[in-house]
Amino acid sequence: MAILDEPIKEVLNLKNYINGEWVESESDEILDIVNPATQKTIAKVPISTRDEVNAAIKAAKEAFPDWRRTTPLARVRCLFRLKGLLEENFEELSRIQTMEHGKTIDESRGETRRGIEMVEVATGIPSLMMGYNLEDIASGIDEYVIYQPLGVFCHIAPFNFPFMVPLWFSPFALATGNTFVVKPSPRDPISQLRLAELIDEAGFPPGVYNVINGGADAASMFCEHPDIEGVTFVGTTKVGRDVIYKKCGEYGKRSIIQGAAKNFLVIMPDANLEATIPALMTSFFGNTGQRCLSGANLVIVGKDDIFYKKVLNTFVDTASKIRVGYGLDESIQMGPMQSMDGIQRATGYIEIGLEEGAKLILDGRKPKIIGDYPDKLFLNPSVFEGVTPDMTIAREEIFGPVASVMRAQDLDEAIKMANSSNFGNAQSIFTSSGKAAREFQYRIESGNVGINIGIVAPMAFFPFSGMKDSFFGVLHGQGKDAIRFFTESKVIVQRWF
Ligand code: NAD
Repeated sequence: MAILDEPIKEVLNLKNYINGEWVESESDEILDIVNPATQKTIAKVPISTRDEVNAAIKAAKEAFPDWRRTTPLARVRCLFRLKGLLEENFEELSRIQTMEHGKTIDESRGETRRGIEMVEVATGIPSLMMGYNLEDIASGIDEYVIYQPLGVFCHIAPFNFPFMVPLWFSPFALATGNTFVVKPSPRDPISQLRLAELIDEAGFPPGVYNVINGGADAASMFCEHPDIEGVTFVGTTKVGRDVIYKKCGEYGKRSIIQGAAKNFLVIMPDANLEATIPALMTSFFGNTGQRCLSGANLVIVGKDDIFYKKVLNTFVDTASKIRVGYGLDESIQMGPMQSMDGIQRATGYIEIGLEEGAKLILDGRKPKIIGDYPDKLFLNPSVFEGVTPDMTIAREEIFGPVASVMRAQDLDEAIKMANSSNFGNAQSIFTSSGKAAREFQYRIESGNVGINIGIVAPMAFFPFSGMKDSFFGVLHGQGKDAIRFFTESKVIVQRWF
C-alpha cells in the first residue's frame, strides 16, 4: 500500500504560544522530534526557560477577568468555531499524530475524533454549568448555588495520546470561563501546537489559551506557582503521585492525577470467541500497547484444557499476523514504539519475564516490518504463557505490545487476581452470562469496567475514571466531573426587607 502524504515536509522549529503570539524560546536546550517509523527528524522543540513558563502563566492570569465576564454563549461560540476548524483539518491533525507518535493512521483518526468530541460536549456549558436554588428555606429566605470559574488551570500531558489527552480538560476549563496553560509531552508536542493554531484562528482572545514547551521543570513550576489554581496531569504514577500530587498538596492546589495501569482481561468459558479475539487484538496491541486502557494480563478462566488451548492458540496466531510498519500505510495494524526508552522498557520486561520462569510463546523482539524502515523502534507482538500474579511482568506496567497469559479456575479466582494489582484503571470481562458480568462489575476494583469491551474508553460526557494507583484526586477528566473541577460552588442566601 502507498504511504499517505506526510503533512510535515521540513523540520519544524516549534515555538511557544503565549498571549496569542508565537514566541521563539531563548532556551539553549532543544530536543529533536524524530518520526519513530522513518527515524527522520521532523521538528525541534525547546525546553522553555523559567521566565517563559512564568510569561505563559502571567498571560493566562491577565486574560482571566475579561474571559470570565464573556457570556457563556460567547465563549461557546469560540468552541463551535474551533469544532469546525478541527473537522476541516481532521486528516492533517491525524497524520501529524502518526508522524510524531508512530500510531497507525486509523488510531490517529480515532484520537482526533475523540478530541473533537470533548469540544462538542463542552459547548453544552450554558446548561451544564447551571446552579440550583430553593425558595423559602426559612420564612422569606431563598438559597441558591452558582458555579464560578476560578482562574488559571494547566495540563501536564503524556506522550501516548498527544492530541486527545489535553482535550480531556482544556475545552471544559475554557467553557467554564477559566484560562489555560498546556505543557505537551516534549516527545510529541506537534499536534498540540497545531491545535493551538486552530484555537487562535477560532478567535479565543489572547492569553485565554497558552502552550509552553518543556519538561519536568515546567511541570513542577505549575504546581508551585501562586497564580495556578489547579493542575491536571496524565502520565506515570511515579511522576503523578510522587511529584505532582504531593506538590499540589503542599501548595494547596486542586488536582486531577491520572496515572499508570495494568489491566486484566478475563475470558469466561462462555465468551463469544469470534467477537472476543478481535477485541483482544485491539486491546493488547492497539497503539502498540502504549495505552493506559491496553490489555496487559489475559486471564483465561475454567478447568477445561481444550478451551484454554483454543483461546491461547487463536490469540497467539492472530497476534503473529498483525501487520507492523509505518502508520501512514493504511494497511498497517501496528506502528513502532514511540521512543527508545519505551522499547528498552518493553524488552527489559521480556528479559525479566524469562528470568522469572514465564514461557515466551511469541517473541516480537526481532521484528518483521512491512516496508523498508530502520527497525530501531519496532517490535512485533510478544506473548508470555504461564504467568502468575506475583511475577513482575504481571504487576508492573510494560507499556508495549507484550501480553501475559494467566489461568484461573473460576471467576472468583480471576477477580481476586485482578484485584491483587496495585492499579485500577480498566478491567474487562468477556462472557455471555449476565450473572458473571454483574458479579465482575460489582467486585472488580477498577475505575473503568468493560463487559465484552476490550478498550474501556469513556465518552466525553462521562468521567475518565480510575482507582488505586491509577488515579489520585476526587474528580476526573471529561464530562460533569471536569466541569465541577474547573468551578467552585458559591452559596447565596437571600432575604429581602
Ligand atoms: P510521564 O509521567 O513520563 O510524563 C508525563 C508528563 O510529566 C510529561 O509532560 C513530562 O514532561 C512530565 N514529567 C516527566 N517527569 C517529570 C518530573 N520528574 N516532574 C514533573 N513532571 C515530569 O508519562 P508518559 O511516559 O509521557 O506517559 C505514559 C504514562 O501515562 C503511562 O504510565 C500511562 O499509563 C499513563 N496514562 C494514563 C492515562 C489515564 O487516564 N490514567 C492516560 C494516558 C496515559
